[in-house]
Amino acid sequence: MKYSLLNLVRNSFSYHENWQEAWSSPELKKEYDIIIVGGGGHGLGTAYYLAKEFGLKNIAVLEKGWIGGGNTGRNTTIIRSNYLWDESAALYNHAVNLWEGLSSELNYNVMFSQRGLFHLAHTVHDMQEITRRGYSNHLNGIDAEILDKEQVLKKIPYINGDGRYPIMGALLQRRGGTARHDAVAWGYARAAENLGVDIIQNCEVKGINITNGTVTGLETTRGSVKAKKVGLVPAGHSSVLANMAGFHLPINSVPLQALVSEPIKPILDCVIMSNAVHVYVSQSDKGEIVVGAGSDAYNSYSQRGSFDMIEHIMGPLVELFPIFSRLKMLRQWGGIVDVTPDRSPIIGKTPVENLFINCGWGTGGFKATPGSAHTFAETVATGEPSKMAAPFSIDRHYSGALVDEAAAAAVAH
Ligand SMILES: Cc1cc2nc3c(=O)[nH]c(=O)nc-3n(C[C@H](O)[C@H](O)[C@H](O)COP(=O)(O)OP(=O)(O)OC[C@H]3O[C@@H](n4cnc5c(N)ncnc54)[C@H](O)[C@@H]3O)c2cc1C
Repeated sequence: MKYSLLNLVRNSFSYHENWQEAWSSPELKKEYDIIIVGGGGHGLGTAYYLAKEFGLKNIAVLEKGWIGGGNTGRNTTIIRSNYLWDESAALYNHAVNLWEGLSSELNYNVMFSQRGLFHLAHTVHDMQEITRRGYSNHLNGIDAEILDKEQVLKKIPYINGDGRYPIMGALLQRRGGTARHDAVAWGYARAAENLGVDIIQNCEVKGINITNGTVTGLETTRGSVKAKKVGLVPAGHSSVLANMAGFHLPINSVPLQALVSEPIKPILDCVIMSNAVHVYVSQSDKGEIVVGAGSDAYNSYSQRGSFDMIEHIMGPLVELFPIFSRLKMLRQWGGIVDVTPDRSPIIGKTPVENLFINCGWGTGGFKATPGSAHTFAETVATGEPSKMAAPFSIDRHYSGALVDEAAAAAVAH
C-alpha cells in the first residue's frame, strides 16, 4: 500500500488498525537466483536495487537477527561526502545524491536532514588537513567551506572555543547531516518486498557451499538453500563469513559505542565532529543529544557499552559544550564495526566464483548506504565490479593501491 495523505485519511476510519504490514515473513525457499546475507541498510538496499534496476526477481535477504538490528540501527547517523580521494569522493557523493531523493523513491520518510556538518580544527595540523581536503572536495564538485574561528563561534553559539584544544576553524559541508537509521532499513525492506524480494529474518548463515570454486548455496539455521549468486554484506561479521568461504579479509572487528541523552529542546542545529577533542555530536529530531565515541581498543564481537567509554565520551563532550554537563544520559550501546587498514570499504568479487562481498565500512558506512547498495547491486548483477566499486577491491591490499581515508574518517567516521 502506498503511503499517502489519502491513505492516511482512509485508514483513520478504521482507527489505523488495518494498515498492511510493511513487509511479511515468508518461508525460506529451496533455491534463489541471488541471496544477500545481512539485513542491514546495505544488504536490503542491494536487494532493492537488484530488483528495481536490473529487473531480477528471485532474490532473498537472509538476516540472522532482525532487520536493522546491526550497525544500521546502532549508529549516530552522520552523513557527509567530504572525503579526500577521488575514488571515495565519487562513492560517498553518489550516496548523498541518492539520500536526497530517497524518501520519495522508497515512499518512506527516512528523515534525511541536511543540517550541515562541521569538522572542527584545533591545531595547525588539523587546519592543514581540512584545507587540503576542502580543496580536494572542490575539485570533486563537493560542497566544502573552510571557516575560521569567528565563523564557527557565530554559527555554534554554545560551543567552547577556548578549551584545552582551542578551535582554530572548521570544514563545513552544508549538504551533510543526519537521517533516521531504522527508517532506512525499514524503507528499503518495504520497497524491496514490493518488488518481490523475500526478507527472511532469524536466519543465520552457518556455512557456504562451494563446488569447484563456485558458490552453490548456503547452510542456514533454517536449512540448506541453493543460490546462483551470493552477496555478503554482514558488516561486523565479514571476517566470519569470509572464513566460511575459505578466504582472508584484512579486517579488524571492534566495538564502537555511542550514547544519547534525555530529550531536550532544540539547541544544536548542526552536526559537529572533532578529531582532537575526540567526539561527534548532533541532536536527534526527538531532542536527544546523540554522542559517539572512538572505537574500542580491542577486538570483540560484543555489542554492548562499557563504563570506561562513558568517561571517554562525556569528557570531550563537556569540554566542547560545558552546558551539556547538566544533561542526563539515557542509553548507551555498542555495535561491531569492520575496520580495514586504509579505512575504506571492500566492494567486489571474492576468490570464490559468484560470491561477492561488500564490507569494511568500519565506523562510517551509514552515510554510504544508498551509494554502497547501488554500486554493489550493479557488481552482483553484472558479475564484474562497477566503475565506482572497482578501486575498492580486496586486491588493493595486496597491490598497495590503498585509498587511505584515515584522516577523513576522523574521530570514528
Ligand atoms: C556506535 C556507532 C556509530 C556509528 N556512527 C556512524 C555515523 O555517524 N555515520 C556513519 O556513516 N556510520 C556510522 N557507523 C557505522 C555504520 O553504522 C556502519 O558502517 C553501517 O551501518 C553498516 O551497514 P550495514 O548494512 O553493512 O551493516 P549492519 O546494519 O550491521 O548489517 C549487517 C547485518 O548482517 C547480519 N549478519 C551478520 N552475520 C550474519 C550471518 N552469519 N547470517 C545472517 N546475517 C548475518 C547482522 O545481524 C546485521 O544485521 C557507526 C557505527 C556504530 C556501531
